[in-house]
Amino acid sequence: MDKERIDEALELLWLLNEENHHDLNRFRLSSEDDGIDSIIIALKEGGLVDISNEIIRFTEKGRTQAKTLIRRLRLAERLFTDVFEMNDDTVIADACKMEHILSEELTDSVCTFLGHPQTCPHGKPIPRGECCKRYKVDVEPVVTRLSEFEVGSKGKITFIVPTRQSRLSKLNSLGITAGSVIRLLQRNPSYVIQIDETTVAIDSEIAKEIYVKKAF
Ligand SMILES: [Zn+2]
Ligand SMILES: [Zn+2]
Repeated sequence: MDKERIDEALELLWLLNEENHHDLNRFRLSSEDDGIDSIIIALKEGGLVDISNEIIRFTEKGRTQAKTLIRRLRLAERLFTDVFEMNDDTVIADACKMEHILSEELTDSVCTFLGHPQTCPHGKPIPRGECCKRYKVDVEPVVTRLSEFEVGSKGKITFIVPTRQSRLSKLNSLGITAGSVIRLLQRNPSYVIQIDETTVAIDSEIAKEIYVKKAF
């Protein structure tokens, strides 16, 4: 059986599960695959789902497989919108489907690079990976911490990795949010950034949690 069709069926079942739907018929009707009945048989024979009383559920194996797929897909979406700054949903959907924009080995490094985002651009949860548990942030040169940004440079905030959730809303209220264009005015004694017409001072601890992409 075609792996891509199996993968799509697993993704669909995951989406339905997120909305608390487990009935087989709904799954069948939601699928765009003409041969969904043979896919269902293949899923069952592959030990990926259990079916009883018209209810379809993941087995442990199926859930793990679907989780990996969804994680990859949603991280790819984040990559496209946050880093490549593409906002066209259809382009993103196509791009993310390409087998596979994100290889399995690279998934954790991209997750780390993106700062272990919790949700995709549509607000759906990104399943956690091993890297998120370790929660160590390594960043490649395209995006740097504000604390390492050059004074005088202009950049766009790519993402924020707050160590405290409360901080995020505070930053938000100051206009410091993903997508904001900033200029770093000074580093000492505190970081001062300019957003639009306002200047905001932030301490170095917070500056480490803000990731910027240099704008030219
Ligand atoms: Zn999404
Ligand atoms: Zn992660």
